[in-house]
Amino acid sequence: MGTNFNQVKIADFTRLAASRAAHIQNAVARSFPPEESYSANRLAEELHPAHQYLVVQKVTELADDMRCYTLAPDIEAGTEKIAWFSAGQYLSLNLEIDGMPVTRAYSISSSPRSTLSGTIEISVKRVPGGLVSNHILDTWKPGTKVDASGPLGTFTYERLRDAHTVIGLAGGSGITPFLSMARAIAEGDEDFDLVLLYGCRNLEVMAYRRSSQSLRRRRPR
Ligand SMILES: Cc1cc2nc3c(=O)[nH]c(=O)nc-3n(C[C@H](O)[C@H](O)[C@H](O)COP(=O)(O)OP(=O)(O)OC[C@H]3O[C@@H](n4cnc5c(N)ncnc54)[C@H](O)[C@@H]3O)c2cc1C
Repeated sequence: MGTNFNQVKIADFTRLAASRAAHIQNAVARSFPPEESYSANRLAEELHPAHQYLVVQKVTELADDMRCYTLAPDIEAGTEKIAWFSAGQYLSLNLEIDGMPVTRAYSISSSPRSTLSGTIEISVKRVPGGLVSNHILDTWKPGTKVDASGPLGTFTYERLRDAHTVIGLAGGSGITPFLSMARAIAEGDEDFDLVLLYGCRNLEVMAYRRSSQSLRRRRPR
């Protein structure tokens, strides 16, 4: 039966505060588990960590001016697992260069599933005159410690919003989020067809040429 609001007496509400206070006063004290031990909070922290402390495990040359960095959790620094992400998301890196704190976004190029085996990849292209890209390409090597955000961004496939065939437009290092999507499709974690129109100056500088060709052969989608 619905409430007829015309019959509600405002005066009844004025007594509520006092009766609540009495209930609280008479309640038996119980000790609740501390907040961080709730499993929902633990899961939220695993999926959306404010920081992921990572360490460079491997550096792969993709082109003259672009390298792929395979990152693993830096357990000593407090990160045990890499957070799951949606293909198309990025990490925001926190760096200090000459005493100056800087942040830059780099899309994740590996598949979401790679997090289960404990690695994540980003690929950085040198930008002439750029502060962070040059710093990374010139100084990062296996063992370098990296302070990254959790996965961020909404450049992801949404089944309810997007058509089943997605046309992607990318140039240069912009291939990275699409590569993650293509890998997720090949591994069965995303269900859509991806048509990628990719531009680069010449085939020698085409990052991920072999990976994208072999993905296309294996999975025509
Ligand atoms: C969501 C997202 C995902 C991204 N993913 C990738 C990725 O996967 N791979 C990748 O390589 N990049 C990616 N980027 C780009 C990346 O974040 C950086 O912007 C890029 O690496 C350049 O940063 P930088 O510090 O080297 O250059 P900056 O120092 O920011 O300089 C950029 C340009 O501006 C010029 N400049 C700087 N200061 C001045 C000034 N005062 N006056 C005139 N010109 C100036 C520089 O010479 C340079 O050409 C992504 C960006 C976003 C937003």
